[in-house]
Amino acid sequence: MYNAEAYAASSATSPLTSTKIKRRDPTERDVQIEILFCGICHSDLHQVRNEWSDVMPTIYPCVPGHEIVGRVTKVGSAVQKFKPGDLAAVGCMVDSDRTCPECRAGLEQFCPNLTLTYNFPDKHLGGVTYGGYSGSIVVDEHFVLRVPSNLSLAGTAPLLCAGITTYSPMRHWGVTNGKKVGVVGLGGLGHMAVKFAHALGAHVVVFTTSASKKDDALRLGADEVVLSRNSGEVQKHAGSFDFILDAVSADHDINAYIQLLRRDGNITLVGAPEKPLAVAAFALLFGRRSLSGSPIGGIAETQEMLDFCGAHNITADVEVIPIQKVNEAYDRLLKADVKYRFSIDMASLKS
Ligand code: NAP
Ligand code: ZN
Repeated sequence: MYNAEAYAASSATSPLTSTKIKRRDPTERDVQIEILFCGICHSDLHQVRNEWSDVMPTIYPCVPGHEIVGRVTKVGSAVQKFKPGDLAAVGCMVDSDRTCPECRAGLEQFCPNLTLTYNFPDKHLGGVTYGGYSGSIVVDEHFVLRVPSNLSLAGTAPLLCAGITTYSPMRHWGVTNGKKVGVVGLGGLGHMAVKFAHALGAHVVVFTTSASKKDDALRLGADEVVLSRNSGEVQKHAGSFDFILDAVSADHDINAYIQLLRRDGNITLVGAPEKPLAVAAFALLFGRRSLSGSPIGGIAETQEMLDFCGAHNITADVEVIPIQKVNEAYDRLLKADVKYRFSIDMASLKS
């Protein structure tokens, strides 16, 4: 066991502050990683402020962070994929049972015995797992990803959650050449969704509440941008979408988007607002439309997504910040004021 520098929240209302946490010494299958960059996901904010108290109550102190890239510093004797000095990445999961049907199908995200990267029982040290707002982390090799060598590291970190969470449902629902795809909410997840849908050949329409993001949306790969508070503009797309990804972090009217789907079209919710959304039955009934959810993605698909990003030169658009600005970044996230992901330069932990 050793001490690592970290930033933690001690309650739902306290800011994140500097602290020290315990990390295990690598066991034979573990990889120890010096963390270089960690993205700030809106889920970090929901969790730190205990906004998901019904489903995943927060245990304090809470060290968030599940968009991790870094350099391997040590490996256990049975580790095969990594050696010291390699780049490596870790997303939202650090363990699962490896034996259930979901794990055997490579869908670890659905394992009933999943361990998330933070705020989940830590089988090794007791207490809960601590995430990537930290100088280092120790993770079983199975949950460590390889990083394509051509990508910027600050922009790669967000791929580990925002990337896979948008890539996976698009692959599942068959987003491809010629499909009409909507993306609701141009934040960290939404801007990755635009990049992927564009790279997969779809006609991409962004729905945003922020007029200031219009030009960016087009630059990121959108074919059309709709200001979602203008209901006349939204209505022009009624009955026309094959697939819509809803990546909004707060309460909003999802029915406005359900009725934009064509027959048998699907809207997938990846956003996880604090309060339940109201769904009007008739919007789904007429048109046999479907509403789904999707959590992150499995390890094999996460590696596929990273390799796809390497091949297409895709990274997140990031604003790099020192860890000391993390609380300010949370406040800005609530105002939809980030273009389009904060990425923490972990070297700042030492200053
Ligand atoms: P983010 O960067 O804060 O982006 C959220 C976007 O939602 C904002 O940029 C804004 O886009 C839009 N928005 C915010 N408040 C709104 C409101 N009141 N009405 C309408 N639109 C609003 O957040 P993120 O990191 O992308 O995460 C988005 C959501 O996905 C969060 O709830 C997060 O917890 C969840 N999430 C889920 C998974 C999963 O596995 N399913 C993984 C990661 C995150 P515009 O400015 O364009 O309107
Ligand atoms: Zn996340």
